[in-house]
Amino acid sequence: MLTRLFRLHGLVVASHPWEVIVGTLTLTVCLMSMNSLTTSSQVCSWNECPKLQETTQDSNIVILTITRCAAIVYIYFQFKTLRQLGSKYILGIAGLFTVFSSFVFSTVVIHFFERELTGLNEALPFFLLLIDLSKACALAKFALSSNSQEEVRENISKGMGILGPTFTLDALVECLVIGIGTMSGVPQLEIMCCFGCMSVLANYFVFMTFFPACVSLVLELSKESREGRPVWQLSHFARVMAEEEDNKPNPVTQRVKIIMSLGLALVHAHTRLASENQGNNRTVEGPMSDSVHSGGTLWPFKLTSMDLEQVITLSLALLLAVKYVFFEQTEAESSLSLKSLSSQPPHKQWKEDTFCKRNGLVQKKQQNIQDNTVTCQTSGTASNVQIAPGPDTSAVQPDINNASGSSSSVPSEDDMHSESKPRTLEECLAILFDPAQGPRCLNDSEVMNLVSSRKIHNYKLEMVLQNPERAVAIRRELLSSQLPSTSALAHLPYKNYDYSMVMGSSCENVIGYMPVPVGVAGPLLLDDKQFYVPLATTEGCLVASTNRGCRALSLSGGCHSRLLADSMTRGPVVRLPSACRAAEAKLWLESPEGFGFLQEAFDETSRFGRLKKLLVGLAGRNLYIRFQSETGDAMGMNMLSKGTERALNRLKQQFPDLEVLSVSGNYCTDKKPAALNWILGRGKSVVCEATVPGKVVREVLKSSTAALVELNINKNLVGSAMAGSIGGFNAHAANIVTAVYIACGQDPAQTVGSSNCITQMEAAGAGGEDLYITCTMPSIELGTVGGGTNLMPQKACLEMLGVQGTSPNHPGENGRQLARVVCATVLAGELSLMAALAAGHLVKSHMTHNRSTTNLAGMHCATSNYTITKNIHDPS
Ligand code: NAP
Repeated sequence: MLTRLFRLHGLVVASHPWEVIVGTLTLTVCLMSMNSLTTSSQVCSWNECPKLQETTQDSNIVILTITRCAAIVYIYFQFKTLRQLGSKYILGIAGLFTVFSSFVFSTVVIHFFERELTGLNEALPFFLLLIDLSKACALAKFALSSNSQEEVRENISKGMGILGPTFTLDALVECLVIGIGTMSGVPQLEIMCCFGCMSVLANYFVFMTFFPACVSLVLELSKESREGRPVWQLSHFARVMAEEEDNKPNPVTQRVKIIMSLGLALVHAHTRLASENQGNNRTVEGPMSDSVHSGGTLWPFKLTSMDLEQVITLSLALLLAVKYVFFEQTEAESSLSLKSLSSQPPHKQWKEDTFCKRNGLVQKKQQNIQDNTVTCQTSGTASNVQIAPGPDTSAVQPDINNASGSSSSVPSEDDMHSESKPRTLEECLAILFDPAQGPRCLNDSEVMNLVSSRKIHNYKLEMVLQNPERAVAIRRELLSSQLPSTSALAHLPYKNYDYSMVMGSSCENVIGYMPVPVGVAGPLLLDDKQFYVPLATTEGCLVASTNRGCRALSLSGGCHSRLLADSMTRGPVVRLPSACRAAEAKLWLESPEGFGFLQEAFDETSRFGRLKKLLVGLAGRNLYIRFQSETGDAMGMNMLSKGTERALNRLKQQFPDLEVLSVSGNYCTDKKPAALNWILGRGKSVVCEATVPGKVVREVLKSSTAALVELNINKNLVGSAMAGSIGGFNAHAANIVTAVYIACGQDPAQTVGSSNCITQMEAAGAGGEDLYITCTMPSIELGTVGGGTNLMPQKACLEMLGVQGTSPNHPGENGRQLARVVCATVLAGELSLMAALAAGHLVKSHMTHNRSTTNLAGMHCATSNYTITKNIHDPS
């Protein structure tokens, strides 16, 4: 509700920037000219305050000087932090905010001082110490993350919705807390606290009005780049929305703040009322004058040249300075640089840690860093840096014992971000290829420049940078600017992933990884053993439905399986000069001599690949040779390709006029529907059976044997025949096969052939009440070693089934066991879906468990063909 209100406010302000700016200025000027009010409604009678009349005191000059210095140092650090964001727009916007807020604040102070500029002298440094640039910059980043000028308003509104409520509450609490000081009875403290309150209010007022209007106006009026993108648009701010939303304030803290502010409001009300009552009986006006009178008795202490008030002033100034410079710095970093150091992308941490810093700038603080001295140098000058042990997260620091002691030209972190001193491509290349420096001495934008100018191939980033996560982050950054939305990749994770298992084996041009929910179905009672089957899917009901099937099987004594065949195939196409010559070659290949000749060559290539059979097809002068081989625990496509290639080379010795057109002639047949696989089998051929008692059919599956048998005939057999299906005589085998394949690191494209399945059902037992069901799957292509099975999450799922890696005793046993599990899980899935269909629960249960309201609109065209009843979750 509150968020919506602030969003609306943000939208209004960003949509009418001129009106808001003019309105804010008018209000401020009006305040200045409202002199008549000053005499009647001053917060306190400061002009009568003795302290203000004694500003020429030496001690006060010291205090003011220290306060001013602290303010300057603080503002310096704030801007330094902002500069590290690398955007001159952020710097400019922050500057604008500071200047205008100071203007509003000064106006207020002058107003209350009746144009007494001595008060302003004292007030401004305090204002600078209290100004909150972090929220302003966060809002600016929301705007800068926009993809187009049209998005600016929307993003400002969103930013306001997120930042507004917190900022309002913070301002309220700050005001009330600082306001307590105005009742302290210590005149100087009262004045400072009044300044503090005004600072907070000015800050808040500007943040809510002038600032968003100005940002909106400036960005909307700015030019677009040649590519049609806004010139200010910064892709690395693209994540800001998500991150700010993620970093929403803790609701508990918020509640505490609200309660605190209520309490403080009561304290204020009570104290003001009490002082007003007392004031009625006094001749002197206001609480401050009161305290000045009582000051003589209450604060009699004098330090040599400073009184207590001055000590308090000095302490407060120092406290504020220490707080902001040393503590607030980390807070500012967390909100200003999008992420705190700990939550920064590791490559950024790496960057900050490993940048070769300028010798003179880096402090001697890492005494424990030893060994690995590396020299980073450019332009001939060098400085020794020490690299902490650890490959990518190593911290690089200059050698404090550097003999030369001279400031080197090693790029400092400042240099990295400096917009004024970018290094040339040649310099960057020199650093990159210098073994003593390397990619760690280049910042991300320099690496991106090298990629854009094709000095580094994008696909080789991992290899060049020797830091996969940094490489992935840079590739994403490069890609983001090419996408319709720069924030497109914001929710595609890439951090904390072991890329070492991916590079060179599972994926190229990596930009992240895709998390898919993994559910579990089971226990599945198969061949008297229990299995818990991991299913990775985004289709609601699938896991629950399969689980119901598993339950029905468990109550039926489980299911039983047999492996019929185990061999992977590869079918190259070769060409001979004539059809007759091709026929000769065919006959030779089919002879024991020919087979033995190729087998020898094939088997040399692997410890597990063993050529079992050759199937030779002929079309004109083309020969299609289907090599069929055992593959141990591997799925075996690479293994087969390797063996086939070697065998073909041997074949060419026998038939020198033979030409190999391709190592794969689609006669394999891999990842395409093919009757060959359905008829002859490919990979593992498995059959699985179960008898489900009539009672279980009725009570768990909520159906009857007769209905299931009839439906199976008409749907899975006749229906599929009518559709001209090849291997699709089932209800939804592909659903289960795909979910297991994704969870267990199989090649997902091989679900095409692996889902071949015929489901058969018969009535059995006395009276035909029991259901006898079988699933026959002739071409399950899978493995437990190689490919995606090497990745850790996929390994975990294989471990769940006890089939990870190489089988210790009989090579290939793990792969075969996994194929049986797949077939049995398919059987469980078939049982459950067929039962739901027979009971007519398809649409109803999908509506209940799977479809959102939006999907309901398109339900008539929904093609999903499995379902689940409510009873799945509550079998009773
Ligand atoms: P692979 O990882 O290429 O080969 C298996 C490796 O594991 C071999 O080096 C093998 O030793 C070794 N190994 C160790 N223990 C083993 C055991 N118990 N059983 C079998 N091998 C064992 O795996 P692949 O299954 O042949 O190929 C799978 C990859 O091929 C997947 O990434 C898949 O996506 C991809 N694929 C390729 C094609 C293609 O046309 N090339 C087509 C589809 C899919 P040896 O060296 O002694 O054999």
